[in-house]
Amino acid sequence: MGSKSISLQVHHLLRDIFETAVTFLYPAECRVCEAFLEVTSIPYICANCWRDIQFLEPPWCDICGTPDVDGRCDQCATSPPRYGKLRSIAFYQTTLQQAIHLFKFEKKQIFAQQLVQLIKAHIPTDCLVAKYDFILPVPIHRKRLRERGFNQATLLAKGIAQAENVTILTDILVRHRHTVAQSSLGMEARQQNIIGAFEVRNPHVIHNKRVLIIDDVFTTGATVREAVNELWKADPAEVDVLTLARTLNT
Ligand SMILES: [Zn+2]
Ligand SMILES: [Zn+2]
Repeated sequence: MGSKSISLQVHHLLRDIFETAVTFLYPAECRVCEAFLEVTSIPYICANCWRDIQFLEPPWCDICGTPDVDGRCDQCATSPPRYGKLRSIAFYQTTLQQAIHLFKFEKKQIFAQQLVQLIKAHIPTDCLVAKYDFILPVPIHRKRLRERGFNQATLLAKGIAQAENVTILTDILVRHRHTVAQSSLGMEARQQNIIGAFEVRNPHVIHNKRVLIIDDVFTTGATVREAVNELWKADPAEVDVLTLARTLNT
């Protein structure tokens, strides 16, 4: 038996071991459509479902990014938010909901990489990350950080910051008050719940700088509004927001 054939056998054996290990480690069904998962697909979600992710496309409100709006939406025209612009990558629909759930609550950190790729591939041209001085993830309270083990926004922000060579700051905007999860509350309660939750430390660092805030999901905007209001106390030159997902009704 030639050495080439032995190495081929070893290669096949290793591939089989690897595939068995993967099948063992990952559930065989897609979390979204329950189709059989190919070994090569993104774990837990099949390629078809992954392709179903719906990305936001212009036109959108110049400021808040609400889809299907030319210029400014009524809300931004009458009482504009304090951020310069808010952009989101995709709608918070089935596949992305599942991916974010796996990432955030089931702690499958492998999704950080997949989701960062998604952001990088679809970042709007009017929100290019390289033009900012700093990237700031929306912080979670240290109690939640202990429970979850990581801040999902920080992992996303890190991936984006690294790719674009922009500095990420995680100790300037901090969450100094523990709040109940926003997702458990209605619209008005969210606003009340989040008031006073953030604090800016060492404000001189971002004074006169261009800052991009990163979060995973934009729902009512209460969290982002509160974080932006707090950041303005440091008098930055610009504050914009980028979120991975955006709920349909916002
Ligand atoms: Zn599927
Ligand atoms: Zn708007």
